[in-house]
Amino acid sequence: MHELSTMMRLISVACNEAEKEKAKKITELNVEVGEMTNIVPEYLVKHFPEASKSTLAEGAVFNVRSIPVMVKCLSCGREYEPNMENDRKCPICRSVEAHIVSGINTEIASMQIEK
Ligand SMILES: [Zn+2]
Repeated sequence: MHELSTMMRLISVACNEAEKEKAKKITELNVEVGEMTNIVPEYLVKHFPEASKSTLAEGAVFNVRSIPVMVKCLSCGREYEPNMENDRKCPICRSVEAHIVSGINTEIASMQIEK
């Protein structure tokens, strides 16, 4: 139940933020899921009603966006998406040494609250 625990964590982060803003409720929650997290966006959506029950996020519109894995070449600084086409090498200098810049986190991109 990886998705459910992730969902609970996201909701608690969102609710903390909303409480800081003295919100009555969260009306919309937009989440970004990195492709490398192995989290299935559809499952997050499925778990949302259960996980948000009795929280400020209950009844909110819940959107999930999948974020592709992007890496940054350590040789030339180019950011690219490693895939079969480029053989997971930098398209500019063909280096394989790169670090991941996106696609490994699940986080709240934005949310709407009602005060
Ligand atoms: Zn490069």
